[in-house]
Amino acid sequence: MGAAGKDSGCNSMRVGLIDVDGHNFPNIPLMKLSAWHKQQGDTVEWYEPLFSGHMNRVYMSKVFSFTQDYPYFVDADEVVRGGSGYCIELADGREHYQKERDKELPPEVEHIYPDYSIYPELTQDKAFGFLTRGCPRGCEFCHVGCKEGKRSHKVADLSEFWRGQKNIVLCDPNTLACPEHMELLQQLKDSKARVNFNQGLDIRLMNERNIELLKQIKLETIHVAYDRYTDKDIIEAKMKMFKEMTGYNKDRGRVMVYVLCNFDTTIEQDIERIQFCRSLEFIPYPMIYDKEHADPIYKKLQRWCNNFVFWKTPRFEDYDASIRR
Ligand code: SF4
Repeated sequence: MGAAGKDSGCNSMRVGLIDVDGHNFPNIPLMKLSAWHKQQGDTVEWYEPLFSGHMNRVYMSKVFSFTQDYPYFVDADEVVRGGSGYCIELADGREHYQKERDKELPPEVEHIYPDYSIYPELTQDKAFGFLTRGCPRGCEFCHVGCKEGKRSHKVADLSEFWRGQKNIVLCDPNTLACPEHMELLQQLKDSKARVNFNQGLDIRLMNERNIELLKQIKLETIHVAYDRYTDKDIIEAKMKMFKEMTGYNKDRGRVMVYVLCNFDTTIEQDIERIQFCRSLEFIPYPMIYDKEHADPIYKKLQRWCNNFVFWKTPRFEDYDASIRR
């Protein structure tokens, strides 16, 4: 997102914030911008088109490409737009990330302790942030490589955005791919906080050492992905290893497995991956690529995997007779 900073000679500023996606998940760049501006003595508030009046600067942040842009006039000397949602373009039926449109936060803003007070309900006793950025995998359906680089690297210590909150939400794309991940897992363990890796953990990178450490962290539901059918051998071997070492199942230490569907697999391959999750008592969650244009069978597949139905109806054919035809 755009450069923070002030015009020379500028006294305190009136700064407005717009979370274009809504207020369901805290926008980390806006929290950091708010903290930095407050540190400079500026006034920071949510921008309200009818009530805010004239502002010196307004920051608009949009994470998701599918969110409609802010529809109202913004009364400000300067409007700074940022976030992935402004950098993604649709072409040939696929989304493409336009790196040149991206604006990074300057280091003094990027590494500041976030102003959690702008989202009081969402951040109560909860810290949010990134310990690492980037991912070496380069999955075609994902923008992380383009946006953050094809190398997972450490960007912060936990203390940068955590001050004793009981819960930590990590937004890292692929923590385990980072060379320093053991040190970072140790920081999470030492925090004694409940940790949510909300982008999931790369099951292919699990080994005895990191699983031992993960077991000592208070984890919320663990998310892993079974996206690429071509990685079947390694993913299934690692999932079995994880199961054996942790004893987790659908009831005790829940493991949720994202299963990418409607991208480059057949429905039979999707069901096969889902059934593998069943065999370990992990909870499958079909992620439907291009949901809007997907065959209706995928929505049925998703409904079948709903917890209440799935464990009682082992075969998709028994849930949806149309697949037998
Ligand atoms: S492993 Fe995950 S973060 Fe990395 S490129 Fe693939 S989908 Fe994106």
